[in-house]
Amino acid sequence: MDYDILILGGGIIGCSVAYELSKYNLNIALIERDYDIADDISFVNTSIVYDGSETSDDVMAGLEYIGNYIIEETCKKFKVPFKKIGALRVVNDDNGVIKLKEMYDRAIKRGIKGVYLIDNKDVYDIEPNINKNIKKGLYSENIGILAPYDLAIAYAEVAADNGVIFKLEEEVLNIQNLTRGFRVTTNKNKFSCKVVINTIPHEIYIKENGKVEEKEIENKKEYFKNMSYLLVDDNYKNKLNKIVIETFDKDTFVLSTPTTTTGSLIGIKSTERTSLRDNLLYANNLLQDLQKNNINNLFRETYNKDSMLIDDSEIDKGYIRITGTHYGKITIAPAIAQMICDTIVNNLNCSLKKNFIDKRREVYKFRELGKKEANEIIALDKRYGKIICVCNNISEGEIVDSIRRPLGARTVEGVKRRTGSGFGTCHGSYCYEKIVNILARELDKDITEIVDDSKNSKIISSRIKEFEDV
Ligand SMILES: Cc1cc2nc3c(=O)[nH]c(=O)nc-3n(C[C@H](O)[C@H](O)[C@H](O)COP(=O)(O)OP(=O)(O)OC[C@H]3O[C@@H](n4cnc5c(N)ncnc54)[C@H](O)[C@@H]3O)c2cc1C
Repeated sequence: MDYDILILGGGIIGCSVAYELSKYNLNIALIERDYDIADDISFVNTSIVYDGSETSDDVMAGLEYIGNYIIEETCKKFKVPFKKIGALRVVNDDNGVIKLKEMYDRAIKRGIKGVYLIDNKDVYDIEPNINKNIKKGLYSENIGILAPYDLAIAYAEVAADNGVIFKLEEEVLNIQNLTRGFRVTTNKNKFSCKVVINTIPHEIYIKENGKVEEKEIENKKEYFKNMSYLLVDDNYKNKLNKIVIETFDKDTFVLSTPTTTTGSLIGIKSTERTSLRDNLLYANNLLQDLQKNNINNLFRETYNKDSMLIDDSEIDKGYIRITGTHYGKITIAPAIAQMICDTIVNNLNCSLKKNFIDKRREVYKFRELGKKEANEIIALDKRYGKIICVCNNISEGEIVDSIRRPLGARTVEGVKRRTGSGFGTCHGSYCYEKIVNILARELDKDITEIVDDSKNSKIISSRIKEFEDV
């Protein structure tokens, strides 16, 4: 057998599973078709770590509750930004009050701590800047925000340091059952393995009858929702400090959340594609005097309500599949990873590694360092004293480190996601070209070979004249 375990897909689920399994004496590889891992986590993900109180599904609630606890511990261990800031759900009509009461009763029945049903006066005590007309609120103190991409990268880096092989830019074409184990065919290789953990969105497992059977998950059209996001700059005066969600009806809400860096994010969920004007109207139900000129950026995403499939019906053969686009998949990923790891470790009867290193290599963030610490680091490496992203104060040293780390960045987006450069008010107009040049130098490539995010995103198509520098 080439591998004991093949993990297909390097999203948050694949990376957290790789981390959990890397604690054991197993020969593991993860196959990802993109240039980078966790590339599909949306840039403007709402980034909320739920606590199991909001969902009507008891299984998801259990996974969220465990996930919330594991994420807090993991973020402390790997120094990933996580802030348990609490979430406030507010309503302004009687029907909404009934729904909040149902949510509260469910949370109490599930034994979720730190959830309170509160009157409008208490709502304004917690968030004085909320705009008018709130009837009731539900406050959950254990809900938080995190940097989801950073968490996925941390899991993957530690897994790689503990021996998991990451095969990037390799697309899995199909999986076939052998007399013992599986054959996984990619566009580059054929691998045999004992166990397959498939986290990619579509089914590619060819059954003994020669068919690929896609299991029914709740993918009904009416479950698809639009999320419009407004990134609000730091100058907006009436910013809310908690995650606040105002529900209008079962399909429409507006939420405001601080981010783990600067500014805040406004999300508008609706069945329709809303315009900027509509979004500002929705947002001003919750916020005071939010204007167009407070908006730094706009994004749109879709998500699917509660469509998760964790299929272990063929676990005796060694096949597990996890798929779906649940709105809280980051929250539940660590809980799913631990569950899968326990099952596999039992089935394969394997032992813990004696030399497992449960530590992420240090990341120095120039903007978070005190003067003394910054000077010490600059004395060791002068590149930490050269600022590349002026908006977010990100140094050349951080960019070089993001490329040279295990599973380092190979694209401009990879550098941006790892360091936070290019997310300031200038949207990268000052630093983009500099990052391209640093990538070319560090990867020993020509700048025409550097891509933005994937194979088809070349930045410079060719030289028009042969200068020494560009
Ligand atoms: C608008 C929106 C807001 C969200 N907000 C939150 C939130 O606030 N809190 C929260 O907990 N969650 C949130 N989520 C959920 C979360 O961001 C995603 O669902 C999660 O990142 C998906 O992770 P994954 O590992 O399951 O899937 P993916 O990230 O899709 O991973 C699958 C991987 O498989 C790879 N792949 C596909 N096909 C192949 C192939 N043939 N061969 C090899 N590799 C392949 C893909 O490139 C991809 O990297 C949100 C999602 C959306 C859309």
